[in-house]
Amino acid sequence: MKLELKGVSYIYDPLASKVKKAVDDVSLTIEKGQFVGLVGHTGSGKSTLAQLLNGLVKPTAGQVLLDGQDVHAKGFPLKTLRQRVGLVFQYPEYQLFEENVLKDVCFGPKNLGLPRAEQIEKAKKALRLVGMEENLYDNSPFDLSGGERRRAAIAGVLAMEPDILVLDEPTAGLDPAGRDEILSQIARLCKEEGIGVVLISHSMEDVAAYTERMLVMDHGKLCFDDAPREVFRHVEELESMGLSAPQVTYIVRKLNERGFALPDDLLTVEEAKDAILKAIMK
Ligand code: ADP
Repeated sequence: MKLELKGVSYIYDPLASKVKKAVDDVSLTIEKGQFVGLVGHTGSGKSTLAQLLNGLVKPTAGQVLLDGQDVHAKGFPLKTLRQRVGLVFQYPEYQLFEENVLKDVCFGPKNLGLPRAEQIEKAKKALRLVGMEENLYDNSPFDLSGGERRRAAIAGVLAMEPDILVLDEPTAGLDPAGRDEILSQIARLCKEEGIGVVLISHSMEDVAAYTERMLVMDHGKLCFDDAPREVFRHVEELESMGLSAPQVTYIVRKLNERGFALPDDLLTVEEAKDAILKAIMK
C-alpha cells in the first residue's frame, strides 16, 4: 500500500484578488509502517495536506495516487481511500456522540456496512490497541478522563482498519503523562500493526523522539523530507520558518561553546545525558 502526492497544490479561494496556495506543488510518498512527523508554523499548510491525503479536499493541481491509482479519477471509490487513510482531527473527542464508548467506536465499521458481530470485533480490537480498559466500554464518553476520551476517538478511526493514520495534533491539551501514553501507543501501532502514521505536531521534542522521517512545511511548500537528525542540522533555516530544534540541542551547543566537544546531532534528553556523562567521566 502506497499513498503518493504528485505535484499537488491546493487553493481555497481561486476567485480571491490575490490567489494563495495553501499547499504548493508538494510531492511525497507515505508507506505502511513508517512513522512520519509533519511540522510547520501555523498556516503553513499541514491540515490542508492532511485533508488532501485522505481525499477530503481535491487538489487544485496535481494528483493523489493510492497504489498508483488517481483517487479523484472518475469511478474511483473515495470511500475506499477514506477507509484506508484514517484522519484524526484536532480534539477528535468533540465528535464522540453515542451513549457508550463501544457503540461510538462501532460507528465506522457500521458505516462500512459490516455485520453487527464484526463491528463489535473491530471496535474491541481498536479499543485494545489504544489501551482502553474493558470496564470502560459501557461508559458514556462523557464519563471518561480527557486522555481516555481522546483514545476512544482515535479508536473510532482505527476500527476502520486503516493502512495509514493521519493525526492532527493528537496530544493537544493533554498533560505530559497523557501525551507520552498516546505517543507510545501510536508508535506501537506503527511497529506492531504496520500502520503508517503521519503525526502533525508542534513539538520538536516529540518529532525527534518518536518519528523516523520528518516533513517540514513552510508557506505551502514542502521544505524538508528527511530523517529528523538530518533536518535538525538546519537550525537556522528552521528558525527562519518560525520553528526550532529540540531544546536540548541548544543546551548542547552552549556546552560546546564552553569547551565540551559533544556530538552536534543529539536530539533527545536521553542522548544528551549519555553524551555528557561520557564526556565528564573521561
Ligand atoms: P496549518 O495546519 O499548518 O496551520 P492550514 O492548512 O490550516 O495550515 O492553512 C494553510 C493556509 O490555508 C493558511 O493560509 C490558512 O489561512 C488557509 N486556510 C485554511 N483553511 C481555510 C479555509 N477553510 N478557507 C480559506 N483559507 C483557509
